Amino acid sequence: MLPHDARHACATRAGSARSGPAGFVVAALLLLVEAAWLAAALPGGALVSDLAAVAVAGWAGYACFVAARRGPAPLRWFWVLLATTMGLAVLGRALWTAQRLGGDPLPHTPLIGTLFTLGIVTGTAALLSFRAAPRSAVGRARTVLDGVIVGLALIPIGWVVVFRDVAVADIADPMRTLGLLYPALDLMQLTVLVAVAGPARPMWWPLTAIGASLAVRVFADATYVSLFAHGDYVPGHPIDVCWPLSYLLIGAAAGCSPSPARGDGEESVEAPPPPWWRVALPYLPVGGAIAAVMLARLSTGQTPHLIFLGMMALLGVLAVRQGLAANENLRLVAQLRWLAYVDQLTGLPNRLMFVRRLSRALRDETPVAVLVLDLDGFKQVNDRFGHGTGDDLLTSIGERMKRAVGTDGSVARLGGDEFAVLVQGHAQVRPERLAERLLAALRPSPGEEEAGVHPSASIGIAEYGPRHTSHTDLIRDAEIAMYAAKAGGKSTYRTCTPALREAAVSRAELIADLRRAVDEGQLHLEYQPIVDLATGAVRSAEALVRWRHPRLGLLSPERFLPLAEETGLILPIDRWVIHEACRAAATWQDRAPEATVAVNIAAAHLRRPDLIATVTAATAGAGLAPRALTLELTESALIDGSDAVLDRLAQLRELGIRIAIDDFGTGYSSLSYLHRIPATELKIDRSFVARLGEDARAYATVEMVTRLADAFDLTVVAEGVETDGQHAAVTAIGCLHGQGWRYGRPAALADLRATLTTVARKQG
Ligand code: C2E
Ligand code: MG
Ligand code: MG
Repeated sequence: MLPHDARHACATRAGSARSGPAGFVVAALLLLVEAAWLAAALPGGALVSDLAAVAVAGWAGYACFVAARRGPAPLRWFWVLLATTMGLAVLGRALWTAQRLGGDPLPHTPLIGTLFTLGIVTGTAALLSFRAAPRSAVGRARTVLDGVIVGLALIPIGWVVVFRDVAVADIADPMRTLGLLYPALDLMQLTVLVAVAGPARPMWWPLTAIGASLAVRVFADATYVSLFAHGDYVPGHPIDVCWPLSYLLIGAAAGCSPSPARGDGEESVEAPPPPWWRVALPYLPVGGAIAAVMLARLSTGQTPHLIFLGMMALLGVLAVRQGLAANENLRLVAQLRWLAYVDQLTGLPNRLMFVRRLSRALRDETPVAVLVLDLDGFKQVNDRFGHGTGDDLLTSIGERMKRAVGTDGSVARLGGDEFAVLVQGHAQVRPERLAERLLAALRPSPGEEEAGVHPSASIGIAEYGPRHTSHTDLIRDAEIAMYAAKAGGKSTYRTCTPALREAAVSRAELIADLRRAVDEGQLHLEYQPIVDLATGAVRSAEALVRWRHPRLGLLSPERFLPLAEETGLILPIDRWVIHEACRAAATWQDRAPEATVAVNIAAAHLRRPDLIATVTAATAGAGLAPRALTLELTESALIDGSDAVLDRLAQLRELGIRIAIDDFGTGYSSLSYLHRIPATELKIDRSFVARLGEDARAYATVEMVTRLADAFDLTVVAEGVETDGQHAAVTAIGCLHGQGWRYGRPAALADLRATLTTVARKQG
């Protein structure tokens, strides 16, 4: 029945772990003895087969019990129910034996019948408790009904096969014909087993063994009914071997039960759909049953009672089964719709649903307005408190919005922390009024304020007008207004106006232009000297990028770098700047060999492993010593540096590249990071320098930072020195270097080279 290696795998596992190898071997030997005894027709065959059946069933029950105790928890019920089934078999067979010895050769008593039937119930329940079996009551009922259909279909087929040649008078004895129910019930169990046997690997062998056991039982019961009907059965008939064999297979199945560590197969979320034959399986025998009924009628000219009742029952069960399936399909369709159109977190309609409603509203040609609401600072909530808190917040926001909007509109979640409200119809409330109501509803309670979990929201409004060609336009306009509300201080609302839209469009255009700027050579660099405050000699020059826009003219970095950072275009731009600056520095090496070039790089570079390669390629390509290049990084870029970033900086330092902390004092200014970063220079932000004359605190700050930088062995550069007074102050404080309009504005390379010559001449 099982291939060789499988039998081997089962036998060894059955032996090694569970109920002991001895049990299996003894039970199998017992079976062999019985088979030999019956085959040789030795005297006392009936008693031998009774005893063998009781003993093997007893052992199998014990094996199942052990499997229940030691096996994985999800399989516990499965084995307990099978152990019960075996226990009932022991009981039934023992009673049978006793009554038989008491003088009744074939004691088909109601009590024994009940015990065997109970065994079928517990066996079926075991199969239904299996993990891969349907979880819902309806699903389980459907599986059992499939089994019942197959079982009932067997009745007419069995009738034709078994009773075809039995005298009509004998058939009238219900004891003979009702026996057909046993193989029918076995077949039902076998069908249920096939239905619940999922693709779970570790349970493959146990289920196969149980399947084999049921198949043996179908065969044995059917043969028994046939022999019995023809009056050919006597206790001790060779067919008796089959029952203990079926119990032996159950015991073997318990032996192959997976150990807890292996489990009965991890639950795969995406179980593949069952093959078509599995779905069609219950219906195939129905065809056979119909054929059998016709045959029975043809041969006897009438429909026997059992066949008639069986067919009626079959029709009834089929009807119920179809009803259940139809019902379940409706439920599944509803569930699918829900999954597709409802946001799982908040229970609100999702983007798809919102868009459908909006399109329908636009077709109705009534006034329509869309509000798009985006939380301010939601990312920080997630970062600080974790995603659980973030999810709770989104859920509560959804509820508050629904309450605030009421019947004046419908709320949806578009995704992330973005929500939308659709307002429709002539009697609609003004969208601005609704926005105010929403902002009021979302205003944090004092408790929330304290906890700091509550971000405010920015709302954008767009009303449907002749400019809009589709729902996409309308949502986009609401989003434009929402971004404007965010830019305008957050926690407010804005309505989309033509001016807003144009600004947004021009922003998009500017981004598109910026994409071409590097390739089309629209960028250029200006250089601003950094001088030695004591001698006035130029020590370095900072390269500052400019964009000569074909239409808009010269654009300062403030105008386009934020866009570049947002879009990632900053990477190619800065790469170009590094190369260009190195080439420029190489041209002044003959005049001022000590003067270095400083380049600003965006934080994004620090996260890129290719930064080192870019920098070394640039210096090597220009023939510049690495120590002639300074990379300027802002405090905030450095402060959230991971270990990888610090490593990268250390590698740059090893190459000889210098590193400056730019705009010092404007970021988070956590002093603790200073000693972790391998910097060489610290540039004090010009906002401090600008206030030096009038603000004592600014003076103290510059003084303190200079002292601190000295302690860390960093060269201090005072940025933005414009006046003689500021120059005197930073010199007095002890800054070594200065940068600012007093020493020179950012200018073309040629101008800088001229300064270098002058200084060189001055010094000479
Ligand atoms: P930054 O690195 O702090 O550069 C110094 C800025 O201060 C420059 O502005 C410069 O023109 C200005 N400045 C210098 N001296 C004075 C002064 O005495 N008074 C005043 N009021 N301003 C002075 P710019 O060129 O507009 O650059 C602004 C910022 O843009 C730079 O600040 C830098 O962070 C960034 N940036 C410039 N070029 C690049 C670049 O190629 N790549 C990157 N990633 N950022 C750049
Ligand atoms: Mg700079
Ligand atoms: Mg700066």
